[in-house]
Amino acid sequence: MQIPVFYSEQMVADSMGFSPSAGKPTEVVQSWQALGLPLQILPPTPASRTQLERAHERWYVQGVLDGSIQNGFGNHSPQVAASLPYTCGAMIDACLAALHNRTAAVAPCSGFHHAGYDFGGGFCTFNGLMVAALDLLITGKAAKVGILDLDMHWGNGTADIIQKHGLGQVVVHDSRSVSQHRAEAFLDQLAQDIRQRFADCDLLIYQAGADSHIDDPLGGYLTTAQMLRRDQIVFATCRELGLPVAWNLAGGYQRDENDSIRPVLDLHDNTMKAHAHTFLLEAAA
Ligand SMILES: [Zn+2]
Repeated sequence: MQIPVFYSEQMVADSMGFSPSAGKPTEVVQSWQALGLPLQILPPTPASRTQLERAHERWYVQGVLDGSIQNGFGNHSPQVAASLPYTCGAMIDACLAALHNRTAAVAPCSGFHHAGYDFGGGFCTFNGLMVAALDLLITGKAAKVGILDLDMHWGNGTADIIQKHGLGQVVVHDSRSVSQHRAEAFLDQLAQDIRQRFADCDLLIYQAGADSHIDDPLGGYLTTAQMLRRDQIVFATCRELGLPVAWNLAGGYQRDENDSIRPVLDLHDNTMKAHAHTFLLEAAA
């Protein structure tokens, strides 16, 4: 079995800002390819305006795409606008692939959870989590979708869209930050929390945020080893529950002394290794 990764260069744009997220997918995928795992790289189908407008106000979608409204990076970049249907599309495709293979799939993209019904911000423009969840719900591919957001920051945009559309019964949203002295307690409780909150969902969307790391300039509370445990617990519990999981990257802002995002790539590598260990190696054992 291969690991489906929905990626193409059309997902990538220079955000001209502090966050690497719009340009990050290429570096992440190259780093994963160097791990020697059986990745299946698949080009995402871009989300249509209709799909984007299921989550967002129509004028907001049109304004961002035609450049008249600023994106979540605070600029009007046409390159960023052109990339957005592909990042949201990758999230939709990863969800569909996970539902199909009954295990897991990957969308190496970011910039979703601070985007609300008619606003962006915090490097997020369209909420691919909710675009994907609504696509599954409206097309009848899922009756209930879980969103486990373990980025360091609260998913205010996701909560806003759930509230605006009255989706509290069909989208289970768990987004939290944990202070450093609570890290071990958080990990000890995580599997049970997933069982309690998501067992009756048809699919889990997991934001494996890398800004939860203790060295992140916008984070963080977990050591590298604790972050790997976090990912292992999420995947192992999904496997135990038979709950398909589609995961993405979310935040991560560390740079090394050469200004490379290698520290962030190492964390995303660990998430991919945890995926492979749970869904390929243990499944084969
Ligand atoms: Zn974040």
